[in-house]
Amino acid sequence: MTQTVSRPARARSPLPLDVEAIRADFPILTRTVRDGKRLVYLDSGATSQKPRQVLDAERWFYENVNAAPHRGAHQLAEEATAAYEAARATIGAFIGAPEREIVFTRNSTEAINLVAYALSNAVTAKEPELRTYAVGQGDEIVVTEMEHHANLLPWQQLCERTGATLRWLGLTDDGRLDLSDLAEVVNERTKLVAVTQQSNILGTINPLGEITARAREVGALVHVDGAQSVPHQPIDVGELDADFLVFSGHKMLGPTGVGVLWGRYEVLDKLPPFLTGGSMIEVVRMEGSTFAAPPQRFEAGVPMTAQVIGLAAAVEYLQGLGMGKVEEHEKALTGYALERLAEIPGVTVIGPPDTVARGGAISFTVDGIHPHDVGQVLDDLGIAVRVGHHCAWPVVRRYGVPATTRATFYVHTGYDDIDALADGIRAAQKFFGTSEVR
Ligand code: PLP
Repeated sequence: MTQTVSRPARARSPLPLDVEAIRADFPILTRTVRDGKRLVYLDSGATSQKPRQVLDAERWFYENVNAAPHRGAHQLAEEATAAYEAARATIGAFIGAPEREIVFTRNSTEAINLVAYALSNAVTAKEPELRTYAVGQGDEIVVTEMEHHANLLPWQQLCERTGATLRWLGLTDDGRLDLSDLAEVVNERTKLVAVTQQSNILGTINPLGEITARAREVGALVHVDGAQSVPHQPIDVGELDADFLVFSGHKMLGPTGVGVLWGRYEVLDKLPPFLTGGSMIEVVRMEGSTFAAPPQRFEAGVPMTAQVIGLAAAVEYLQGLGMGKVEEHEKALTGYALERLAEIPGVTVIGPPDTVARGGAISFTVDGIHPHDVGQVLDDLGIAVRVGHHCAWPVVRRYGVPATTRATFYVHTGYDDIDALADGIRAAQKFFGTSEVR
């Protein structure tokens, strides 16, 4: 398939980040795909590519230090512990949190499950203090219709285990949370409100302040899914007024296999563990055991040490660019992409139509062409996007589409990538003979 020629470049303001310099840090962006085509990677929302600095940090750990942290008294074990804990401090500082509030998990999904299981484990905890947040019959958990399955199923399952009731906030036609019944849905029975800060499918950035204020009024915990926000905007947990925030290393230039649960210390301290085993204990006897203080209470087993060190390198890389600039960069790209897609007859964006309270996840449909076919034509042109329901099935159902094609941006994305996307969509329309469809 040949690519159609893009129309002459319009006047565009310079992007806040130096895209060419950043691309040079990402070895994978030098490879070609599908018979020598430049890789146009527009799937950072699924997983991000990694700069050399992150790859080097992991290699450094394995080549120089490799040992299990918090175990053993030999020099390597001491150095591994120091590197692991230094990384915890770096990652905590990135979101304005002290080390003791940072728990490492495998990914956001595991971090959310950790909290959900802690709340049901609380029902049978031996120590009365660890039963503080126990969830049971008559209690309610509130989510939204916008959640990724990772921030929906653990709460559904928690309700099934405990007899609590799941309630949710709906969506408006333009892809925003419908807060008209917030005061009714979040009420005196609500134990926890779980909400995404930025939708992975619609791009919507949610008004967390309004939701946390209501949750505070009724004494509910607030759990924020930051998988799509922490990588893309400055976050300070001091300003968030939540109790939990989760995010994944692999979506923010870091390695796979590491995620983060931030929890307010007073709350973490009153939660029983999710997983039990080595290193999360205080005293172990055959008759029963007691648990270490957070964060160790929630880190059973030898941790993903190299990945944590790689994630700290990713955080330093992002800090070097400046998270404010990362956010502005993506906003400029999002505005440009929305304009370019609006020019193509037959393309409909599912989600907010402008850049107000909106991040750079752009989902769209193309009249007369199934999203999987759009994705295939784009792939032939070297353009990687995601197609499907994006693990947010209730959202596609709400908007009456079977699936969407989704483009997501990051620090190495430039206007040329978006031009390639727009040209690729036109090529798909030409290929399927739907150019005239409106
Ligand atoms: N939450 C949101 C909003 C996401 O976009 C994702 C992944 O795409 C997740 C949670 C789950 O992340 P992970 O698969 O890294 O656990």
